[in-house]
Amino acid sequence: MGEKRIIYMDHAATTYVKKDVVAAMRPYLTEQYGNPSSIYGIARESRRAVDVARAQVAQALNADLDEIYFTSGGSESDNWALKGVAWANRKRGNHIITTRIEHHAILHACQFLEREGFEVTYLPVDRYGLVDPVTLEAAITDKTILISIMYANNEIGTIEPIAELGAIARAHKVYFHTDAVQAIGNVPIDVKAQNIDMLSLSAHKFYGPKGVGALYIKKGVRIENLIHGGAQERKRRAGTENLAGIVGMGKAIEIATADIPGHNAKVSAMRDRLTKTVLAEIPHTRLNGHPEKRLPGNFNISFEFIEGESMLLWLDDVGICASTGSACTSGSLEPSHVLLATGLPVEVSHGSLRLTLGDVNTEADVDTVLAVLPKIVGRLREMSPLYQTERTGKNGGCDV
Ligand SMILES: *Cc1c(COP(=O)(O)O)cnc(C)c1O
Repeated sequence: MGEKRIIYMDHAATTYVKKDVVAAMRPYLTEQYGNPSSIYGIARESRRAVDVARAQVAQALNADLDEIYFTSGGSESDNWALKGVAWANRKRGNHIITTRIEHHAILHACQFLEREGFEVTYLPVDRYGLVDPVTLEAAITDKTILISIMYANNEIGTIEPIAELGAIARAHKVYFHTDAVQAIGNVPIDVKAQNIDMLSLSAHKFYGPKGVGALYIKKGVRIENLIHGGAQERKRRAGTENLAGIVGMGKAIEIATADIPGHNAKVSAMRDRLTKTVLAEIPHTRLNGHPEKRLPGNFNISFEFIEGESMLLWLDDVGICASTGSACTSGSLEPSHVLLATGLPVEVSHGSLRLTLGDVNTEADVDTVLAVLPKIVGRLREMSPLYQTERTGKNGGCDV
């Protein structure tokens, strides 16, 4: 195998771990391995390190120290918020409101709760992926106990009007949870100013390690435990702490939130050049997500007459890591539920390409993508019977 330079444009899937984060973690994987619950010296140092990380996370959200609970990641935090509030507030009501564009950690937890007798309203979104505050307010009933709306979407990058939605929840005395896994480090978050009762985070989406996350739970929220066992995390989330992971998460969130405008300016400049050029130079394309209210690194464009999976294979061939809105699972193409919710036709959603730029990318990476993408799209369209017959309405098969 020759040396192939990788162009990583899939930061919404995961990120590398920054050097300073690895350096902060290393002692806790080597000499400093004491169990934070033990009482001797090295254990006290472990406890202190967990406390420092908790303060770093709390500061990034404008939360209090005792409102931060470390978990195993975004999926656990989402599951805990939904199931924990549902179980603890069953007597008050059985209605939950979420949206059609949530991550599967939310959607599948909601489906589980539906089987347990809860009723879930899945709010629609507009063509840009935005939730309408008026629609949210109209969906609230006297049985509603929880509203969960993601801060920013992982596929199309749309940023929801969280403060406004949170204010509606608060006015109706309904708990408000937001999955901020994609948002943190890209938008300033203030749980107090934005009326947020619970918020999910995952370290590997902001240059921290995988397998560690956090749930912010505002003081006074009634929530059942998800993981039962020891007395860790103030008896609310059992299990020996992922010490090095937690230390890494603390360091990573401190770095990610230190200069959000600076980071955004750099990343969005590259993303904007990519988007504008592709839309201008390749015909039959459509931008997915909101033109302005979107994450700085998110590019999501649909190419008509093309299978996203084929595009990914060709991009991979030249070292470009990307993602698509259709996944070839067990022989059938599953279009993205997010793209469908924005009203994109099934066949167009199959041809969508998501590039998520981040700290590793350079203008040279953008040049490379702009050099190869039009050729790949051109070749695939030449091979496409759909393109040849110009919209005969027949769906292409799964060709991987
Ligand atoms: C990645 C992601 C998750 C899941 O986080 P994990 O730490 O991988 O479990 C949840 N929600 C969103 C929006 C995500 O992007």
